[in-house]
Amino acid sequence: MAKRRRVRWDRVILVFGPLVLLILIIGVSCHHRDGSESGENPTVTDIVIDSSQPVETDPNAVPTVAEAKPLTICIDAGHGGNDSGATDKPKDKSNDTSNKRLEKDDNLRLALAVQESFRKYPDIQVIMTRETDVYVELQERCDIANNANADFFISLHRNMAESGKGVEVWINNESMGDNTMDKLMSEYILDWLEKVGISERRGIHYGFREGEGNYESNNYYVNRYTNMPSILLEMGFMTSKEDNRNFDDHLSEYADAIAGAMVELLTDKGLYPAQT
Ligand SMILES: [Zn+2]
Repeated sequence: MAKRRRVRWDRVILVFGPLVLLILIIGVSCHHRDGSESGENPTVTDIVIDSSQPVETDPNAVPTVAEAKPLTICIDAGHGGNDSGATDKPKDKSNDTSNKRLEKDDNLRLALAVQESFRKYPDIQVIMTRETDVYVELQERCDIANNANADFFISLHRNMAESGKGVEVWINNESMGDNTMDKLMSEYILDWLEKVGISERRGIHYGFREGEGNYESNNYYVNRYTNMPSILLEMGFMTSKEDNRNFDDHLSEYADAIAGAMVELLTDKGLYPAQT
């Protein structure tokens, strides 16, 4: 029968106790040093970024300036406030507008619909010269686009005449050369609107229509004083029942066509999707 060996716990503690205590002290002191000397968080210089590795992006992250949407389109709803623009009853010169269809309202409806249509394209941001029924000076409209460094300017209007129907675009008379961007914008947009359905394609016009007021240097003011490619789109005649019916029936399709045409043009030019 083996003799049972008696463990002398008092001696074990006496021998190993100080050793355990020493290990604990060293451990705590090292941890403390990490926290106090290097700061609670690593400094910027401590972070080494390996640019060869793909960076994972957080879809919920707030975009920085460098990631901001690079393509900006300014949508200008013509007229507004006290300036009604054209009406469906040009012979009625009274100030009573209650029984008239007003261009300023149609322009705003279309502009807001176009703004909505561009939401499908995350690389494009839209700025508006007005979003309500307010009067905005022509120079202020240009300033809004110029100050935002907008890439494109689209002014939305409707026509008025004793007779006539259809859609036309006005651009700066210095853009008469081949394939200037405002000419291309006009062609693409007219193509897309034609696919939706318009009464007549009246084409591209340069400068301004004789006898109209809002022009400078033989151009419509907004085409003259914006720094970016710009067009003035006349979306049918207020005085044409057919155009008014088209406008009401196809408003959202027209808006989608304007946005779609711009995106197709930008894609063809290698500008979309935008590069950051
Ligand atoms: Zn107008």
